[in-house]
This record gives sequence, structure tokens and C-alpha cells, in this order.
Amino acid sequence: MQTSFTAEQLKDPHIATANQILRKCVHCGFCTATCPTYVLLGDELDSPRGRIYLIKNMLERGEAATPETVKHIDRCLSCLSCMTTCPSGVHYMHLIDDARAHVEKTYKRPLVERLLRDVLAFLMPRPGLFKTALILSSLVRPLAHLIDKLGDKRLTSLLALAPKETPPPEIIGQPGIYPAEGEKRMRVALLRGCVQSVLDPGINAAAIRLMNRHGIEVVVADGSSCCGSLTHHMGKEADALARARQMVDAWSAAGVDRVIITASGCGTTIKDYGHMLRLDPAYREKAQAVSAMARDITEFLAEIDLPKVSPPKPLRIAYHSACSMQHGQKIKSEPRRLLEGAGFTVSDVPEGHLCCGSAGTYNILQPDIAVKLRDRKVANIRSVAPDLIATGNIGCITQIGQATEIPILHTVELLDWAHGGHEPEILRQSSKG
Ligand code: SF4
Ligand code: SF4
Repeated sequence: MQTSFTAEQLKDPHIATANQILRKCVHCGFCTATCPTYVLLGDELDSPRGRIYLIKNMLERGEAATPETVKHIDRCLSCLSCMTTCPSGVHYMHLIDDARAHVEKTYKRPLVERLLRDVLAFLMPRPGLFKTALILSSLVRPLAHLIDKLGDKRLTSLLALAPKETPPPEIIGQPGIYPAEGEKRMRVALLRGCVQSVLDPGINAAAIRLMNRHGIEVVVADGSSCCGSLTHHMGKEADALARARQMVDAWSAAGVDRVIITASGCGTTIKDYGHMLRLDPAYREKAQAVSAMARDITEFLAEIDLPKVSPPKPLRIAYHSACSMQHGQKIKSEPRRLLEGAGFTVSDVPEGHLCCGSAGTYNILQPDIAVKLRDRKVANIRSVAPDLIATGNIGCITQIGQATEIPILHTVELLDWAHGGHEPEILRQSSKG
């Protein structure tokens, strides 16, 4: 694609990066076929190629983003399916990240939307406040139909995401050192996380138990809460970079061999810290080192060669590969191989490349598209008639779990159970019921 940035504009390193990315696009349009928003809406401007044109025009003009451009950028899930499909290696992720930052800097959103975004960006990365907000939302939930009548579906979708019961406390997973059982093979840091540590603390607890049992010492560093992914995808760069620096400091001081992440959305961002902090001389190298150490938990378990075992129960699992897992991190075979190695029967989900509509805060900010994608995903999952669903991202667990009674768990909870841990609570409840 030809671009026409001026020499002055190209002095800005963000524009220079965007220019390099844009010039790789040959307009072939292969990416349109696998883009969830194009598949649903059929509008070229809601396809990767259409968005690339909009972003190019927006950045070349160097002016404030227009409402039309913002509409189509906001509808992008950042699922990165287009990057998997693109034969020319267009780095759409870096382009859309910069475009969102430009929108955030130059465009004034309507008041309600601005407030909603600011509240989400403030609450979600702070586990204590987020938990309080969830408890309050469960009190307001009975009034959801009244709020719906006010006509803003984003508020109702926010309420719908709150769990029906107060989430259990985080007992295993708080900052500290969790020693290896037997001979120590490695010392790793585990991202404590923000939303996940509140909604389902059992995920990190299962990861810690499983790693400890296999000779891995686990450090949960003080301050390793939110990785910055949520605000990064909202274009709030200053907040995202501050959080990235905090994580880099915490893990650089921890003396670890790997950084383990149990939410693939966070993993994609942490693996990109080297790029995000490339313009900061004080952090560039440390950030690159952290990105190089970052592993999804399934990637790490495959690396340490988790032994094969018999399943605690012969279950048929539909494996839902989160976009951030398959497209963002290109982790495809490991989760499935680990589950099969634990004796489970694993089915792929038809249209597995399409997003479930979760995408960070997307299911709150774009509820119409998110619900359509969720229902399509659930129908595809049902078509393989599984006993349960496994996935590697808390966003997908929450989103898909809203629309099906089939139990949905994190892959590591099933692996921990198969390797001597206890049966996950959701399975105990469903076998009682
Ligand atoms: S990231 Fe996903 S939604 Fe956005 S343009 Fe690419 S394929 Fe489409
Ligand atoms: S597949 Fe790649 S090169 Fe082709 S239009 Fe899409 S982004 Fe551009």
C-alpha cells in the first residue's frame, strides 16, 4: 500500500512504525474472510482491509479522528484473526494499538461513553475495587430490566457479566513464594492478574499446585497485578505503559527463569512489552528480557514435558482456543496435546478461528456484536456435544459461560485435577445437580 506521510510526520516513531506496517499490505483482502466483524456485518469498513485504509487516512491527515473512523475502529475486536490469515505479514496488532491511542488523544467521545470507559479503566485493573463493584452490581442485578429500558445495553451487559454468587476469596495466589515439591527444577514468576484473580482465583491456584508438584518454585511478585492489557486495548497508553513498567520492575527483581501467565489476553500483551517500551531507554532491554521469558501456562507445561496420566473421569472436552492464544501467541497444539496427555477426549470447535465476542471490555462496549458472536460460538460448541468446555482465557470463560449450562473451565484446572489435584468445584456441583 502506498503511503504519503511527510518527512516531518515520519520523525514520530509511532508514525514511522505505522508507515512500515501499512506499506506491507497489498490489499489482497484474504483477511476479510476470517474477520468476525466482516463475517457478521458484511461492511468493508468493518474488515481488516477497510480499517487499514481508515487508519492510514486518519494518520496521514494527522488530525482528530472522525466519528465514522472511530465507529469502525471501536468495532474491531483486536482478535488478530487477520494476522493469522495475512500472507504479507501485516502487523495489524501494532497498527490498531497505535490507532486506538490516536483516537484516545484526539477524539472526544459522548459523555456517557467517556464515563463508562473511564470507570472500566479505573475499576478493572484494581482487584479490590473491582470485587466491591461486583458485589454492588449483584445487588443492582434484579433491576437489570429497568436499566435495559433506559436504552443503554452497555450497562445491562456490564451487569450481566457480574457473577451470580460472590466469587471465592483468593487463598492460593497472593504475593509470596510457593515452594517446589521434591527437587527444584526451575523458579518462575506467575502473573497474579486483576480481573481473573477476582472472578476465578481457582485458576492460578491450580497452576501453582500443578507447577509445585512438578518441581517448579513459583513466585507471585508484589505488585504483579494488572499487566496493562485492558487499558492498552482502550488506547489509554500512559496507564498501560505505567503498568508494563511496574511488571517489568517486579519480575526483573524476582530472579526467575520464566514468567507464567494463565490468561492468554495478558500473555499477548506481556510478550509485546519489548515493543511497547521500545522508546524508553531505561526499560527497553529489561522489557525485552521479560517478553522473552513470558510463557502461557500450557506452553510452559509442554516445555517441562508434563507426563501422561489417566483421566480422573472419561470426559469429552470441547477445546475453545481464545483468539489471544491462537492468533495473538500462535499457541495451537500445546493445550490440546496436554489435555489428551491427561486422557481426555478433545474435540475442536467448528469455526474455531472466530472470536467469542469477549475481547477485554468489548462485550461491555459493543454488546450487540458481542452477543451475536457469543451465541454463534455456543452453537458451534454444542454441535460437538461435549461434557465440558476448556479454554485458556478468563474473558472467554465469562463470555461463553453466560450462554450455556455446559461447564467451562480453564485448561490448567483440568490438568491439575488429572495430575493429582482436586476435582474443580464447577464439576463437583454439576455432578451433584
Ligand atoms: S483484529 Fe479481528 S475484528 Fe479486528 S480487523 Fe482483525 S480480524 Fe477483524
Ligand atoms: S490479508 Fe494482509 S495484505 Fe491482504 S488486505 Fe489483509 S492485511 Fe492487507
